[in-house]
Amino acid sequence: MALREILTEKKDERQLRKTAREVTVFDERLFSLLEDMKETMIHYMGAGIAATQIGVMKRVVVIDLDDGEGVIELINPVITKEKGKQREVEGCLSLPGSWGYVVRPEYITLRYQTRIGEEVEINAEGLFAQSICHEVDHLNGVLFIDLVDEMIDEEEAGRSMEKRRYNHTKKKQKRAV
Ligand SMILES: [Zn+2]
Repeated sequence: MALREILTEKKDERQLRKTAREVTVFDERLFSLLEDMKETMIHYMGAGIAATQIGVMKRVVVIDLDDGEGVIELINPVITKEKGKQREVEGCLSLPGSWGYVVRPEYITLRYQTRIGEEVEINAEGLFAQSICHEVDHLNGVLFIDLVDEMIDEEEAGRSMEKRRYNHTKKKQKRAV
């Protein structure tokens, strides 16, 4: 495992604007990319990271919502259905210090492959759906500031996300009982 440098919009916008290529080989190199992405995401306390953010033009994403479900790995993710709307705060490891409200679908259906190439389809909602949309956008060179409808300061972002995380955790616990 190795900690990788995160590209920032300020320094590396050209690279971040590129579209990632589909993964066709599911081998050791992919596994080590996934491990590097996880290590980097955890080190920088992110909730998700796309391979493009460390300069690797592959359709690979990892997400960790810190909800006890562990890290989810998404290879070649494709959103096949979208329903509803949510307007929530987003930030990005590639845009340190920037926060804003983005409108995303509340419910999505996602098709992706696992690290060994198995095809999976899942439904996601709320914070999970929001995170997937944000990361899939990265694979297409799209940043949240392209979609933002209101930028806010760090303090307001902190308050809003704290509240959200609490609600998210509560909902998860309720479901588990
Ligand atoms: Zn991001």
